[in-house]
This record gives sequence, C-alpha cells and structure tokens, in this order.
Amino acid sequence: MKSTLVIGYDVERIPGRVPGEKWVGRPVPVDTTTRFLTRIVDVHRAVNVPATIFMVGANIEAHRRELEACLASGLFEIAQHTHEHYPLKTVVEETGSRVYLKGLDFARIEEQIARPCELLKRHLGVECKGLTTPYTHYRGLSDRPDILEIIARYGMVYTRSYGRNSLDYFPLDWDIQPFFYERQGFPEILEFPVQGWIDAQWRHDNGWDKQAEYLAYLKEQVDTHADRGICWAHLQHDWTSLLCDPDLTWTRRFLEYAAERFETRTYFDYYKETLAKKPS
Ligand SMILES: [Zn+2]
Repeated sequence: MKSTLVIGYDVERIPGRVPGEKWVGRPVPVDTTTRFLTRIVDVHRAVNVPATIFMVGANIEAHRRELEACLASGLFEIAQHTHEHYPLKTVVEETGSRVYLKGLDFARIEEQIARPCELLKRHLGVECKGLTTPYTHYRGLSDRPDILEIIARYGMVYTRSYGRNSLDYFPLDWDIQPFFYERQGFPEILEFPVQGWIDAQWRHDNGWDKQAEYLAYLKEQVDTHADRGICWAHLQHDWTSLLCDPDLTWTRRFLEYAAERFETRTYFDYYKETLAKKPS
C-alpha cells in the first residue's frame, strides 16, 4: 500500500532570535521569510504537490501578500507555529549538542496559541486547524493535556509536536505513526509525529553545505517507506531550505522524487480522511 507524505514548512525567521545564529554557525538573511514564501509557491506549482505552511503568528501581517499568493495557488494550507516560537515544553537533549531549553510558563501559553488563530482569521480569512510546536518534543503533547485543552478550545484539530525520541533527540522511529489523543480526553485531535531526522538537526550535525548528502538521506527514506502504507510528516524550514539553496532547487528535486512514490496531502486533508475512517 502506498504511503502518504504530508509536507510542512515551518516559516519562522525572527531576526535576532529564530534561528539562533550561534547554533547555526553562520548568518541567516533577514528577509528569509519573504524570499521563501515567494519562491515556494512557484516550486509547488511546478510539481503540483500540496503542502502546509506553519507560520509564526508574529510574521503573518507583514507577509499577508505572499500568504495570499500561496492560498490562491490552491495547493497550500496555512496553519500555525505559535506566535513567537517559544518552546511549549522543556527540551533536555541527552545526546548530540545536549541543548537545554526551558519551556514557557503555562500562564503565557494561551496567548502564544491564540494570537496566530486571530491573525490568520483577520488578515487571510483562514480558520487555523493545526499547530506545530517549536523544537518538537518527546511524546509530543501526550503528557500535556492542559495544552491540548487550549488547542481544542481555539478550534484546532491536529498537532505536529512529536519529533524527538526518548533521548529528546533524533531520529524518531518510523513506527511512530499519527494517533488521536484519546487517552488525554481529546479523541478528535490527531498528532502527526515527525519521523526520522528534522532537517535543521541533520544539516547542523552533518554540515549545512551537504545538500547532496541530505537529499540522498531523504531519497533513502522515500525508497524504504514508500510501500509501507504509513504517513510521513516531513518538516523543512524557511531558513534551512534557503540557506545554501536560494532557488530551492534541492527542495524541488526532493518533491519530484517523493511525489512519484507517495500520495501527498496537506495536513488538514489527511486529518479529514483519517477522522472519516475512525471507528466511532
Ligand atoms: Zn520552529
């Protein structure tokens, strides 16, 4: 059975903060988000593949025109990546760079989730259906029903928050597949685990210039998982995609290769199909 690929772009450049340029080890252009949004529409039109854009709320109004063009193409869903990209849970990596990131105080979380919903509605008429959490976490939001409650209250039905293994690192096992947060009391919220390596971490650890090697890694995942009937939540960022590839040539090559072998959907379309198949 053919597998399904759900492509999500985390569009999050906040000059001075996201990404941390010390961690990246080189400067990231200030106009990254504008250039990415402008170029990505052409790439997706050329390959006719759908995708979801996860915007940080703080950048929505300033990029209204580019986002409107994405919507007008009919290929993009727009969802959110919180308002200002603070971690919702604490990250404690037990290997790799051993990064420690303190999670945001609970009192500030609702605002970080609510504002992008309001801004997407006001500036683009978009009802936000999903959220991807900054940095991703081990077990996603399985241990945070308090955050799931906020997500449900603002009308969202899916999350993409589980991208780390039990060492709070990568890669995440491919057997970890989308699941509903039943046990937490949110049976209509679907989690999309991000399997394998997240692009930023693979490329940080192996070298930002190793585009050919990174594409080879992705193609290997395509070949391994194309016929397993699974769902692959693939993640790229605005800044990682452009860092050594101003025309998104490598992104286009990946899309061409993967779309021939996988079904492709936006996150919300995959959600609707999964909900329809769910035993009541
Ligand atoms: Zn992010």
